[in-house]
Amino acid sequence: MSLPAAPKSKRVLSGMRPTGTLHLGHYHGVLKNWLRLQQEYRCFFFVADWHALTTHYEDPRIIGENLWSMVIDWLAVGIDPALATLFVQSRVPEHAELHLLLSMVTPLSWLERVPSYKDQQERLKGLDLATYGFLGYPLLQSADILIYQANLVPVGEDQVAHIELTREVARRFNHLYTKQRGGFALPEPASLLTPASKMPGLDGQKMSKSYGNTIALREAPASIEKKLRTMPTDPARMRRKDPGTPEKCPVWQLHGIYSAEDTKAWVQQGCHSAEIGCLDCKKPVIDAILTETAVFRERAQEYLDDMGWVHNIIDEGCAKAQQVAQETLGEVRHAMGIRYTP
Ligand code: SF4
Repeated sequence: MSLPAAPKSKRVLSGMRPTGTLHLGHYHGVLKNWLRLQQEYRCFFFVADWHALTTHYEDPRIIGENLWSMVIDWLAVGIDPALATLFVQSRVPEHAELHLLLSMVTPLSWLERVPSYKDQQERLKGLDLATYGFLGYPLLQSADILIYQANLVPVGEDQVAHIELTREVARRFNHLYTKQRGGFALPEPASLLTPASKMPGLDGQKMSKSYGNTIALREAPASIEKKLRTMPTDPARMRRKDPGTPEKCPVWQLHGIYSAEDTKAWVQQGCHSAEIGCLDCKKPVIDAILTETAVFRERAQEYLDDMGWVHNIIDEGCAKAQQVAQETLGEVRHAMGIRYTP
């Protein structure tokens, strides 16, 4: 007799900004992790449209253009609305109220010293990020986390400082208000450190929209095949008979993601001895990526054919998320003495 599944007592929160088409880097770096988390925890996955505005306020159309496509990508890879709550941040305005209330107690210096504040301004030089919204976005993230009283937040190394900020803000809130009124305290979330995505792009650098080296999750097979057939290899293999070194070749990195040990041994032997050509070598990777993405395309089509279904999933997710958010906000207002109701 099988035992009943343990209740999912711990809450996990994670969001994605809808600023572009999702690619295989997102799948291997984030979404595969979500697939695992949704089995183990009570997950809240959200479209971070307000966060997208912090950098794309001059052209917000991009957010609307990518929002539904991103939700379909999530569903297509297997994120399951029966297991996880899927919602859109701006459809749960309680995030904004908690952000405002927390902004009252957060010292400016805490935000100014978040490493990504300066780094991102440097990196995104073309955008004017000297805005109040951009400075405050780590605090908006804190509100996103604390409004669901999330216990765990999956983050990469570069986001750990944001979780630390959230913990500090929760501690300050609790110090200021919980003692007077007793009872409710904002729980401090922990980082669930996820290794940086190992998914290489077509040029061997990390797969990223800004490097122009991506394969979209639902890219057409002919386009995927063309990109892979023409991607660079070890420059030492000028001619078919020239031996090469897989470690100097971006295709080898893709074998690291997609190929079994026997295939990798075949590549090593065949490349060093020039017994195989680069197109032979690419074939198993092309096949693996086409097989992987065929599933995504097929599932996505079912949703694209019935957008009402997708809208319902998000409507229901927003309602569920809002219920939790309202409960927290009620406690927060009470702790601060600003509920004004008997
Ligand atoms: S044989 Fe494979 S690993 Fe070697 S250079 Fe060509 S594509 Fe790269």
